[in-house]
Amino acid sequence: MAVGGGVGALLLAVIVLLFGGDPGDVLGGGGQQQVSTNAQEVDLAQCRTGADANEFVDCRMKGGMASLENYWTRASPDTPPATAILFTGQVDTQCGAASSAVGPFYCPLDRQIYLDTSFFNQLQGQLGARGGSLGELYVLGHEYGHHIQNYTGALQASQQSRSGPESGAVRVELQADCFAGAWLGEVSRGQDALLEPPTEEQIRSALSAAAAVGDDSIQERVQGQVTPHTWTHGSSEQRTGWFMRGYQSADPNQCDVLNAGSVEDY
Ligand SMILES: [Zn+2]
Repeated sequence: MAVGGGVGALLLAVIVLLFGGDPGDVLGGGGQQQVSTNAQEVDLAQCRTGADANEFVDCRMKGGMASLENYWTRASPDTPPATAILFTGQVDTQCGAASSAVGPFYCPLDRQIYLDTSFFNQLQGQLGARGGSLGELYVLGHEYGHHIQNYTGALQASQQSRSGPESGAVRVELQADCFAGAWLGEVSRGQDALLEPPTEEQIRSALSAAAAVGDDSIQERVQGQVTPHTWTHGSSEQRTGWFMRGYQSADPNQCDVLNAGSVEDY
């Protein structure tokens, strides 16, 4: 168990990944390779403990993906798991080439989540190590939410209504936030708790920091083939509202933003 000690008061009770039990289980031992990186060969077999997850972004992402797969296999059994790619510099995807400048994104064509580590460095810089880890997991959960939407059809529906505060595009983003919240609610409170429960203030700052640096511009390069991040994500209040609705219920069925009367109905 890794519990942060010796951190300043402001960083107390923040995110600590708690991988208990057999770390091989938690970190996806025996399953498919869930995180790969084109930047350098990282031996993910070395990700064994919560301390590894706290220290290394690759191990955090691996643990996060194992947890997301576990969560969504139960919540949405028909959806095959997503994979995540960590990259720096440039990466080729079926949605086109992307540079680090685009921020995290999900490519529906190859069904992979792309996460550039420089984006994560920005988050860490803005939020500190532990707040940054929450931000990273939120981003991962949000992108995994787009993967779920790729199978429910929500992602495609968003393409038909691209702009405006009540548009399908906004609703898809808010639903992905709600899905991220539902997962993080589960792993903060459930039996297999992975996280120390964050405060609402920590959640708020993680979401706003991620949004501030995370609006990717890949849409300009590969129109229509990438999740609609560059349209709007909804207001910060709406994002937090839907995230919290997911977080408090830990139930993705509470995340039907697409059919909500208004995006304000969180
Ligand atoms: Zn998104």
